[in-house]
Amino acid sequence: MARHDRDRIGYALDVLGDQWALLVLQQAFFGVRRFSDWRDTLGVSEPVLAARLRLLVEAGILYRRPYRDAQRTRDEYRLTDAGLELWEILVAIWAWEYRWVRRRDVELPALIHDLCGHTCDPPLTCGHCGRLVTARDTTAHRDREVGAATPPRRFRRSGWDSVADRPLLFFPETMTIIGDRWSTAVTAGAFLGIRRFSDLERELGIRPSVLSQRLGQLTEVGVLERRASKNGRDVRYGLTEKGMGFFPVFALVVDWADRWLDDLPSSLTIVHRACGERLDPALTCDRCGVRLERQQVHFARPDGRPAPAGSEHPRDLRPSPMAR
Ligand SMILES: [Zn+2]
Ligand SMILES: [Zn+2]
Repeated sequence: MARHDRDRIGYALDVLGDQWALLVLQQAFFGVRRFSDWRDTLGVSEPVLAARLRLLVEAGILYRRPYRDAQRTRDEYRLTDAGLELWEILVAIWAWEYRWVRRRDVELPALIHDLCGHTCDPPLTCGHCGRLVTARDTTAHRDREVGAATPPRRFRRSGWDSVADRPLLFFPETMTIIGDRWSTAVTAGAFLGIRRFSDLERELGIRPSVLSQRLGQLTEVGVLERRASKNGRDVRYGLTEKGMGFFPVFALVVDWADRWLDDLPSSLTIVHRACGERLDPALTCDRCGVRLERQQVHFARPDGRPAPAGSEHPRDLRPSPMAR
């Protein structure tokens, strides 16, 4: 669906609620700029990659810049200011996986706060009053219907094999939640308090078969739980603690969309009830209490040893000086 048909949140979730878009962005923060580098690092097919790059350019997240190689002039892709501000969303995704997802195979790298030098696990705080914020401390005011999601782009699960063993690349449970547009819409609906099957079906414009499949997936990973009344007639889906834990990602997407997609109609305002202000979601270091800045965090292996050659870490979230 075209940008001008969407509201801010709907469009942001369309663009970001996609596994390949998130992986392309993550690599952009690690300094990848060229088509062939994304293709080779992610093992993504060329048409899929080209479509994601086009969408990210259209959304104002990447911009094209010509460069000359041996044969011809080509475009490389760099993060715009709006794109650079997505770093907090990627850190919030990492933090949720770090806290909530048990991994048998690989250990996630740690986030280091350079300002204090500690590993940190940043909670969400309110930029106005400085208090910790959870989903329960907020009220969402909907300015209009969330709007039907556009049909999800298809991707093959087998395509994930190429990235499955690299911890910073691959966030399997996040992909269950926001890896395609329908899951993203159902998750957003849950945060907005839409609990019943029929309400989700109507408000999200989602087919019953697709809705039950996504509800099943989200229940299976422990993000939603099914609560039936005693007689079994009234069934509701609610967020579990683990699901509630995903709120920082949702709040940061809403905030980003408000700041960077302000040519589109606003659809949602999140208010922090404790201070009564529109939520200014901020990730804060749990060790020194200072709000995280993009230039002051990096990822490293938890044991502090240098990463083996060829691994994805340690890398940092700072684009190298050449990245602008
Ligand atoms: Zn506040
Ligand atoms: Zn700190």
